[in-house]
Amino acid sequence: MQALTTWNAFKDGNALLLRNGDQALRFSRESRLVINLLGKTGSGKGTQGEELAKKYRIPHISLGDLYRNALLENTSLAKVIAFQANQGISYDVEEVGIGMLAKRLERADCDSGFILDGYPRTAQQAVTLNKTLLHPHDLQIPINLEVPDDLVIQRIANRFFCSPCQKQIREHIEIRHPGHCPDCDQPLTKRVDDAAKGKVESKLLFHHDTIGSILSALSQRDLIHTISCKESDSPQSIFSRITQIVNQTLDDRFKTVQYYNQVDNVA
Ligand SMILES: [Zn+2]
Repeated sequence: MQALTTWNAFKDGNALLLRNGDQALRFSRESRLVINLLGKTGSGKGTQGEELAKKYRIPHISLGDLYRNALLENTSLAKVIAFQANQGISYDVEEVGIGMLAKRLERADCDSGFILDGYPRTAQQAVTLNKTLLHPHDLQIPINLEVPDDLVIQRIANRFFCSPCQKQIREHIEIRHPGHCPDCDQPLTKRVDDAAKGKVESKLLFHHDTIGSILSALSQRDLIHTISCKESDSPQSIFSRITQIVNQTLDDRFKTVQYYNQVDNVA
């Protein structure tokens, strides 16, 4: 087992500084830190994404949230998505997702990096991500959260939503006032997508059909890390496995940067 190292995040103006003892790596517009969480619906990407965003001080960009927000705002984009949904066309039409993500990444909070959740959903989107959305010096860490289907189905059945707070409540059992939001005490509902019969199953089928080609497209640029999650794994234990992968990747990045600095000095 490799020695454990811990990289901690600090803000340096618009840049992000990751420090491990006296070692430091700087991330900025042309070299961002991108943690890309992959996995089926209910695999824990959202929970992990929120925690990683706090730890690494970069925003959590959930494609699902971008779609839902677009639908709430009555924009022309929302009308396109709603039309497609009504026609039974998957809202994952390539250009809609890519356009929305590209626009979100232009905002200043993404300047030094971001956590990606729910993108790419197709091999074509993976190619676009690598070729056009990412810069050559960005450090992307793709992490595939593998969770058995039956566990996902069980989790989604226990997943509730508070519309006033726009918040997903995942551990319904632990709520003090059952059926009500722990923050505002309003009654909890199910997300339309979670409640619709057969929707979860069709999402899982889509995932199984596409994940292989997505991973293979992403691996053209970066090493894919896979975490196999069991029912007994707590979100905290998955989180520490993710940060271990991030720590090791940052170690490697530091060694590479050092090596090139030495080569530059000799030349
Ligand atoms: Zn609430």
